[in-house]
Amino acid sequence: MGRGIIGICLSLFVQLAMGQSYLDMRHHSYREMKEYLRLVNNLCPEQSRLYSIGKSVQGRDLLVLELGSTPGQDQLLKPDFKYVANMHGNEVVGKELLLWLAHYMCQEYKAGNQEIQLLMNTTRIHLLPSMNPDGYEAALNYPREPKPYTYGRANANGQDLNRNFPDLDATACQIPNGQRTDHLSRVMDFRREQRSAMLARSIFQEYPESFSKDVYSALTKRAGETEERQPETEAVMNWILRHKFVLSANLHGGDLVANYPYDASCNGQEMGHYQKSPDDSTFRYLASSYSMAHTRMSKKGQACDPGEKFANGITNGADWYSVPGGMQDFNYLASNCFEITLELGCDKFPKEDTLPTYWGENKNALLAFMSKVHCGVYGLVVDAQTGAPATGAVVVIKGNSHGITVTKNGEYFRLLAPGDYEIAVSLDSNFDDDQFFPITVPECKGPGYAVRKDFKI
Ligand SMILES: [Zn+2]
Repeated sequence: MGRGIIGICLSLFVQLAMGQSYLDMRHHSYREMKEYLRLVNNLCPEQSRLYSIGKSVQGRDLLVLELGSTPGQDQLLKPDFKYVANMHGNEVVGKELLLWLAHYMCQEYKAGNQEIQLLMNTTRIHLLPSMNPDGYEAALNYPREPKPYTYGRANANGQDLNRNFPDLDATACQIPNGQRTDHLSRVMDFRREQRSAMLARSIFQEYPESFSKDVYSALTKRAGETEERQPETEAVMNWILRHKFVLSANLHGGDLVANYPYDASCNGQEMGHYQKSPDDSTFRYLASSYSMAHTRMSKKGQACDPGEKFANGITNGADWYSVPGGMQDFNYLASNCFEITLELGCDKFPKEDTLPTYWGENKNALLAFMSKVHCGVYGLVVDAQTGAPATGAVVVIKGNSHGITVTKNGEYFRLLAPGDYEIAVSLDSNFDDDQFFPITVPECKGPGYAVRKDFKI
């Protein structure tokens, strides 16, 4: 241990002597990333919290820095937001951007930047800069340039983490038109594994709103099959299901586009099949909020492959290429969280001196997208007689099969693109026409723009 501390001090001394610091914009090894996160945490101890959601195959902690005015505390009607980067270990721009973003937001909060203060006072922001630290170390330490295109992409067991989530798209494809296509964790591949059944059981005990009772019993049935879930995947699944995440993005590299659900086609077509989700217009709105605020993502001719054309810098996932078992659709189909996937540039592991350019391109987009967690409708749902939270009730929008489940505190957050809608809530998933209320969702510019609508049922 002593040797480790001496090593860190020596390395810090060498870096200072070279005019570098951990907080510089450069590539950070796992050890340096850890130090960076600690320094930001120490700079803003009241507005941040550093925690681990689990360990990688090689035993590295999957570290998350939470930012906000109430780190670590679940506050009524305050939504959770997340950014995840470096799931593919050799796609590194997102990782450095999240480190820089954390430092920037901490500094600006303290300096009195009102926009940042508003965002941090109204949101719990969770940043996971490296979901695959083992793959990152492999890519970082590859001895020659250029690095091979996929070296370090997989985790230490050689598994592509973005194909390692339960394939909920396959389940959603089987659901008849008009029936609900949310919270499929209730019936999903969890059944395949005892370990996941145990995970489900523990989540159910702590967060009963995640599952209904009948579904919980289906879910915990043992079904013999084994599909190896990687520790990084399991840690993130657990994290997703245990938090009140409303909006998220998964940061990748290798192209320049904002990708939205569904990611997998129902007809087995590998490319070119637009697989619409029930929230297609809302996802297009959210993905565009990133691409339009990015300095060049939405402009013509920016795709890395000259044959690709992304209108406004966004694409439906399956239309681009089909990805079963991805994290994006797991978020949407297993939880209340809407996630998109961001490709931040053609070069997966760019030269260090180009990183400031990436920050310049993405800074406003990262902030603009984050503020969209405050769009749509939100509110409290309580029992009309007792006033107790109507935990597990479902909020639906007329004509949309994707329900939002009310949290244990009786809250819901329903992201929606601007427009006119009809909304209803029910405990038993039966909705009569006269239960719906009209609502108008305005153009959303961030905190304070969501429409409040409470229910007593
Ligand atoms: Zn990737």
